[in-house]
Amino acid sequence: MSATRNPWDSPAPERAGKPEACALLPDDFEDLGAPGRGEHIFSQIHHPWAWVEGRPRVSRAIREWLDQSLDFCLPQVLEQHASGDGSTKLILGLADGERIEVVHMPRAVRNPRVTLCLSSQVGCAMGCTFCATGSMGIHRNLTAGEIVGQVLVVLRALGPEQPHAITLVFMGMGEPLHNLDHVHRAVRIFNHERGLNISTRRITVSTSGLVPGIERLAHMKPRPWLALSLNATTDEARSRIMPVNRAWNLARLRQAIEAWPLAEREKLTLEYVLMGDRNDSLEDATRLAEWMGDLRKSHNLNLIRMNAHAASDIKEPEEARVTAFVQRLKELGCFVTVRKSRGRDVQAACGQLVKRS
Ligand code: SAH
Ligand code: SF4
Repeated sequence: MSATRNPWDSPAPERAGKPEACALLPDDFEDLGAPGRGEHIFSQIHHPWAWVEGRPRVSRAIREWLDQSLDFCLPQVLEQHASGDGSTKLILGLADGERIEVVHMPRAVRNPRVTLCLSSQVGCAMGCTFCATGSMGIHRNLTAGEIVGQVLVVLRALGPEQPHAITLVFMGMGEPLHNLDHVHRAVRIFNHERGLNISTRRITVSTSGLVPGIERLAHMKPRPWLALSLNATTDEARSRIMPVNRAWNLARLRQAIEAWPLAEREKLTLEYVLMGDRNDSLEDATRLAEWMGDLRKSHNLNLIRMNAHAASDIKEPEEARVTAFVQRLKELGCFVTVRKSRGRDVQAACGQLVKRS
């Protein structure tokens, strides 16, 4: 075993008694007796546009070894729903028949760039009342191989081929900090210089506020950036829409965020879904700025308009209220942006991802 092994490592995940090929780091291939350099096999697996017939471009000996010793089962692209705004929602099928959703959001600037919105679980246990994924309950965690597999199959299907232009956000189905070991292994693989080499600044894990997970992630390396879904400004209101608040309330959450050891230039993101007549008053805006305190000078605050869906009776906010809310936050010194939701016409926007069978 290599001396450079990461102390946060969890054992390589296995499925059907075989290690998952996409969940392995270079050292793991060597430990498992691969007939070739671990770094070479790793880099071939993680450059999906160079694959041949849906498999990594490796020698016959390595391919036979991969087939015999490892589980090389990738998610299957079952459906692609292209939105009018250029984004695509993909439905992926997993080996056990479960389905997850991934959203591909390209941005046409000089170099092609893409943001992928990834799932971390099939469903979610957190039960937020405004979220379509929450309404399906939790089916299971994704394995690290399935998390990495999402990226490989989606990049292969829709590109682009420039690894430096990829941003990953864990804002699809599931609560990533409920599945931290697998999510973190996937982050290490995405970040690895012989793979996609995605900087941790371009990987964001969004949480509903699972404090033990935040405190654990704070000290893990490599560490992705954190986004926190706040969505309410009093404990009473937050507990009503986000049951997690009954275990870790706003004060406890503030403490966990305060203790996050920021790296140079790192910023936390606070997310706030504006829900019509629920949390979009000027009093809410004032309380939100108060809760942020000093954080308002250094961190990003993203407002997201509620995307209405059949599983919730919560409405979208009125535009005049959104404008007034933003204005109040700006007056109070917050860096605030209203996030443009993409993929709404194909139910790919925040909180609209749900398994449909
Ligand atoms: N479980 C994590 C990440 C997935 S949800 C979390 O809760 O942060 C990603 C984002 O979508 C969260 O900020 C969440 O508050 C937001 N969201 C959920 N349902 C929504 C909806 N119906 N409309 C708009 N945003 C929603
Ligand atoms: Fe889960 Fe996030 Fe949806 Fe809440 S908002 S139910 S934590 S996916």
